[in-house]
Amino acid sequence: MNSQCPNAMQKRIYADHAATTPLMPEALEAMLPFLKENFGNPSSIHSWARKSREAVREARATIAKCINAEPEEIFFTSGGTESDNWVVKGSSGGLLVSSYEHHAVLSAVASEARRGRGVVYVRPKVGNGGGYIMPERLSKVWTDGIGLVSVMMANNEIGTINPIHLLSEFAHKRGALFHTDAVQAVGHIPIDVREMGVDFLSASAHKFNGPKGIGFLFIRKGVKLEPLLNGGQQENGLRAGTENVASIVGMATALKVNFDQMEENTAHLENLTSRLRDGIDRIFPSAIYLGDGVAGQLPGFTSVSFPGHAAEGLMHMLDLKGIAVSTGAACDSKNTQISHVLKAVNATNEIARSTIRITLGSENTVADVDVILAALKRILRGAGNDII
Ligand code: PLP
Repeated sequence: MNSQCPNAMQKRIYADHAATTPLMPEALEAMLPFLKENFGNPSSIHSWARKSREAVREARATIAKCINAEPEEIFFTSGGTESDNWVVKGSSGGLLVSSYEHHAVLSAVASEARRGRGVVYVRPKVGNGGGYIMPERLSKVWTDGIGLVSVMMANNEIGTINPIHLLSEFAHKRGALFHTDAVQAVGHIPIDVREMGVDFLSASAHKFNGPKGIGFLFIRKGVKLEPLLNGGQQENGLRAGTENVASIVGMATALKVNFDQMEENTAHLENLTSRLRDGIDRIFPSAIYLGDGVAGQLPGFTSVSFPGHAAEGLMHMLDLKGIAVSTGAACDSKNTQISHVLKAVNATNEIARSTIRITLGSENTVADVDVILAALKRILRGAGNDII
């Protein structure tokens, strides 16, 4: 047998939860009837439709409750990318966005810029304790005519959490609407759209143990947004297309379970993360943590650089040992250029090229962390890793 292959008996460890999460059994169970016998189209009139319609109604109410919204403020979409595109393309006026947004925002903004819309970028604070956006930074770049400010709630590469209530207040005082891409945050940290003062909030189910290809957009009551998709009258005439009933039900179930277990999950993940970092510090004292500042980080999130060791090599060697981590955003993993997020926080080329992202989830255990540490020790202290 090829000694490079993972041992068939070896337990595989998934530590890439910022890329996607496993579907929780409760969500799958709740979805199955809508993939089998309850297949009615919620828009039909007959009795087949009633169950589907009722399920969608209930799911909307459940999701609204978890984020302190009203049910009619929740609009189902195909995921984070669609929610982000909808807000950017359906809004009007100039755009002010952070330079370390996910490409779902940045590429939509670039497309709007090509159509002549004004765009201003704000960089996160850099240096020690950096990686987040404060109102002072928005104020530095503010220009007249900005209609929408979009700053993510938590960054997907370094896990930093932004003070959304301060940023939305800043935007509103200047007459602009405020959107936050909360794809990495929903289901993991408390979300209260009223306290946060947001007009729009994007979420995606596969980041909180729900199914892929489903998400939602919160649109504050009374705020106008042009539809992205035109067609039937679904979602109050604002998002056409037959509802993905099973996935909507799975998403609501996953969010509710995570919402109910949030305190417990956070404590568990904080415990695992400190064990992981203590271990890393012992194995490799010159490791550098990104986004590890005063702003706070998502539970379970570690973005760490091992100077002298190429991240790609580390990731592949861990993969051979059955451990999944990543070298930045999942959608960027085929891109050999330095990530725009690490660039935005001023990471040097060497740090950026040696940074891996280890994102733990609630199903990870202390034993998993110890296996990851043992593997890192062998790789980092052993010969054969490609030095930059
Ligand atoms: N926004 C952020 C911050 C993300 O991390 C992601 C996915 O990685 C997205 C948007 C896109 O979400 P989706 O995969 O549901 O389209």
